[in-house]
Amino acid sequence: MRYTYNQETCRYEPIVVGSGQFAKKAFQFLGISLLLGAGLLLYYNSQYDLLDERVEKDKNEMLKSQWQVLHHQLEQMSTDLAKIEDTDDNNFRTILELEPLSQSIRDAGTGGHEKNGEQISNPIIKNSAILANKISDRITIEQQSMQELGEKLEQVQRERASRPAIQPISNHNLIRLNKIFGLRLHPIFHYIRPHNGLDLTAAYGTHVYASADGQVVYAEPASGYGNVIFVNHGYGFETRYAHLSRYNVKKGDYVKRGQLIGFVGSTGTSTNNHLHYEVIYNGKYINPISFLNTDLTQDEYNKLIKHNHDDKTARQKQAKSSQSK
Ligand SMILES: [Zn+2]
Repeated sequence: MRYTYNQETCRYEPIVVGSGQFAKKAFQFLGISLLLGAGLLLYYNSQYDLLDERVEKDKNEMLKSQWQVLHHQLEQMSTDLAKIEDTDDNNFRTILELEPLSQSIRDAGTGGHEKNGEQISNPIIKNSAILANKISDRITIEQQSMQELGEKLEQVQRERASRPAIQPISNHNLIRLNKIFGLRLHPIFHYIRPHNGLDLTAAYGTHVYASADGQVVYAEPASGYGNVIFVNHGYGFETRYAHLSRYNVKKGDYVKRGQLIGFVGSTGTSTNNHLHYEVIYNGKYINPISFLNTDLTQDEYNKLIKHNHDDKTARQKQAKSSQSK
């Protein structure tokens, strides 16, 4: 309550303001305050929003361009991977007689990622995430394919190494090759009987080489054969080397193609120094000629033999050094 001094009554009396007048003043005051406040607020907000937006916009632009670079790299990876998949299917798998991977196998496991991607709300990042996951799955499939190729390659190499592909006596030492295979008049018994191998005439003591990788399963004298070596090559193949003067291997030894296994002689039913060489496939005698690699030059043959000699010499040295320890 406010008071004023009344000179007529010489008293302090309360100021009485009419209700209409009071309301008018109050509204004026409130109105000005509100206008001022609102104006300040608007000004402040407008300034603040502009700044904030600009920073956010710059940030977004930067992120967007960074994402574009990343996404482009992903697409490039996908293209490169497709080239590898194509080479795998149309070269490696074809050469090794494996079926190309079907699209359903190549796509296997890539189905779930649309779902994984759905958790990401940003559509741009979602696409990249799905692509990255697909690439990852395709790499896994390709790795499995490469492993399969590696195993198949090893198998093919083992099979090839097991084929009795080389002549067990070097052409350099060969005096005569008797290609008669099948029925013939036996030179000693003088009656018709099958001749189940090749006769390679060579001087006494000439080196006899294993025609393929395998294991010696027999290295003892046998009637007719004389000193003979049986080598089991696996995959249905066996070779026999007869009429030897001496052995260079014993039963149980593993031998490599071109490895020195024995020496030419004339033991058993034989009239002259020669090697009787047989090839057996799945228990049946077959003509060794059909397996001989005739494309091999003397140089290549020598290298093969020398290579395996070196191998053996190295193995023997290693064995000796480990024995002396
Ligand atoms: Zn013979």
